[in-house]
Amino acid sequence: MNLESPLDSLKGIGEKTKHLFATVGIETVGDLLAYYPRAYERYEEPVSMRDLPQDEIVTIRGTLTSPILNRYYGGKCISATSCTDGFGEVLLTWYNMPYQKNSLHTGETYIFRGKTKKKGKRLLIEQAAVFQEEQYEALTATLQPVYSLTKGMTVRMVQKAVKQALAALCPPKGTAAGAKTAKQAASAERTSECNSAAEAVDYLPENLQKEYHLCLWTEAVSQMHFPDDFDSLQTAHRRLAFDEFFFFLLQLQNLREHRGKETHSFHIRARGAADHLIASLPYPLTGAQKKVWADLCRELQGEKVMVRLIQGDVGSGKTILAVLALLTVAENGYQGALMAPTEVLAAQHYDSIRALLEMSGLPYKPLLLTGSMTARQKREAYAQMESGEASIVIGTHALIQEKAVYHALALVITDEQHRFGVRQRDNLAQKGNTPHTIVMSATPIPRTLAVILYGDLDISVLDEMPANRLPIKNCVVGPSWRPKAWEFIEKQVRLGHQAYVICPMVEESDLVDAENVIEYTETIRQALPADMRADYLHGRMKPLEKNEVMGRFLRNEIQVLVSTTVVEVGVNVPNATVMLIENAERFGLAQLHQLRGRVGRGDAQSYCIFLHGGKSSEVAERLDILNHSNDGFEIAAKDLQLRGPGDLFGVRQSGLMNFHLADVYADADILQLANEAVTKVMALDPELSLPEHRKIKAIYQRQKERQGGQISL
Ligand code: ADP
Ligand code: MG
Repeated sequence: MNLESPLDSLKGIGEKTKHLFATVGIETVGDLLAYYPRAYERYEEPVSMRDLPQDEIVTIRGTLTSPILNRYYGGKCISATSCTDGFGEVLLTWYNMPYQKNSLHTGETYIFRGKTKKKGKRLLIEQAAVFQEEQYEALTATLQPVYSLTKGMTVRMVQKAVKQALAALCPPKGTAAGAKTAKQAASAERTSECNSAAEAVDYLPENLQKEYHLCLWTEAVSQMHFPDDFDSLQTAHRRLAFDEFFFFLLQLQNLREHRGKETHSFHIRARGAADHLIASLPYPLTGAQKKVWADLCRELQGEKVMVRLIQGDVGSGKTILAVLALLTVAENGYQGALMAPTEVLAAQHYDSIRALLEMSGLPYKPLLLTGSMTARQKREAYAQMESGEASIVIGTHALIQEKAVYHALALVITDEQHRFGVRQRDNLAQKGNTPHTIVMSATPIPRTLAVILYGDLDISVLDEMPANRLPIKNCVVGPSWRPKAWEFIEKQVRLGHQAYVICPMVEESDLVDAENVIEYTETIRQALPADMRADYLHGRMKPLEKNEVMGRFLRNEIQVLVSTTVVEVGVNVPNATVMLIENAERFGLAQLHQLRGRVGRGDAQSYCIFLHGGKSSEVAERLDILNHSNDGFEIAAKDLQLRGPGDLFGVRQSGLMNFHLADVYADADILQLANEAVTKVMALDPELSLPEHRKIKAIYQRQKERQGGQISL
């Protein structure tokens, strides 16, 4: 049994479970163990009924003041009673649960958990979860893992499978086998035989574990799924984040060896087309754009293969630089490819680049290639790429599929590159005779981290915004402000503009109290006048559906787009002037800043409303940073300062590089350590041939083989 073993090599995993798990991407034992909870819930202490908030999930300790009354309406039963804690009273109702009447008794005290609602002057909780006091106390001491589950999958199923996998990987001898709790497992691991088994599966040599104060890998995995407490969880996170960075950096090291030194045989001299385009733009380039364009020209015309990162805040105007570079390559008889992380973005780039070229009267037509095109359309596109007829190709991953053969690929640009795998970048580069590479990113990264993460790239920074921009007006408000926000949206739509509303969730969830796209769209549709259209967009929709919705939004057939963060990356609808972000407390500041960047792209005044759940002043304080700064770098730095370790598992800067678990900002210290470790290992044993590095090498190679992988740059 090893991490590569298929899932059904575990005892108790049959065909059905195997297929179910496969739908969420779990195929091997390793996949299973790495299927970490996406969050942890803690059952909070009950609160006093004195000043209970309205419309929030609360936990109360209440004594039933009257027997439960069951009323029947057309075969449906409503059970009602009330409870008190001496400071206040709350009404309780349950729907179709007549048996509550026999299980809850007047004068006895229970814990109730549910969402409060105003009913007349009183507060009501419908369908409250009921716990005995001792039962709830035991729960408050634990962290409950929350997994992303698909239909038919339960937390219990995942945990059971994880337990089996851990036991099978490092079989404990004696009674420790299949320990009941993580504590037992962990303490068993610390003892004798089990310990040696755990060490045997650990890839990291003991000296590195000691030096960087890391726990055993098996212990870390076990704690992720069965956390003892917050401290152990943090220790586990530290170890696993270290691993992730470690292998990522190992791959980078490998890239570095091949990059930056090569010469190329492209002959790129002419740049008349780009000059012509610049002259026909409706705006002058900013100073920063001119400077970066000069960098690009110099390198395109030079001898060495260019590998350059263009970093610029949202709205700083990166796209035009990509167009200029692509155009120059095309003018000189070569091909250039622009790869975007989503179909929506690829289609949008295609449209705007085609319009730009048409407007300038230049004889170049871009070609679009995306995964959702029909087989025939794709075939035609591939043919044009192979013959060289298409000189500017724009698309998604389809650009690097095996069928994509280029005639003379000289330049590869990836937009919002942190969504791409190192390997994908490499793949695309291999499609040509080592083409020039430009990666564009809006991700603000402190210099020290950039040196580690992008060590193999030269960096150009676009540190100036186009002059015609009106700064976005911001406000941070609580939920009571929502009706006003909607009115405001209505007014802007009346003026001919459009709005985004961002919700953290796709669908209603019992565990997470946050707005969801589907229900929200229904509600806002009711609230808006009949002639205004609202629709939704989320990551679980098919690419074609997403394109279609985005297309309608672009054409102003949809005025209010309710969406998850799928719109975060690079979408450009200049007519949109309002961004309303619900549950803003659930997002990292850098991500909120990216979201805000979707408005303020045209001439009209734009607005961003951060609506938070209204619980703590800390939240408002953190969000307030966004009120005062429009500078992505500054925001990221301040966010980092404000975030305590307690935030580690809450808000993630998920806009930044697609690490599975590690967070470049929050785990910056671990990143530095992993970098140090990689440097040491490579200095000592560049081929990874020493026995203690054998396992590192195996994992490293396996990751390399896996297309895409978790690791991305
Ligand atoms: P990002 O850097 O976020 O990718 P874009 O390239 O999408 O930004 O540019 C955002 C908007 O700014 C686009 O509508 C683009 O046409 C416009 N733009 C780009 N450069 C300038 C400029 N120098 N002056 C005015 N508007 C510009
Ligand atoms: Mg962009």
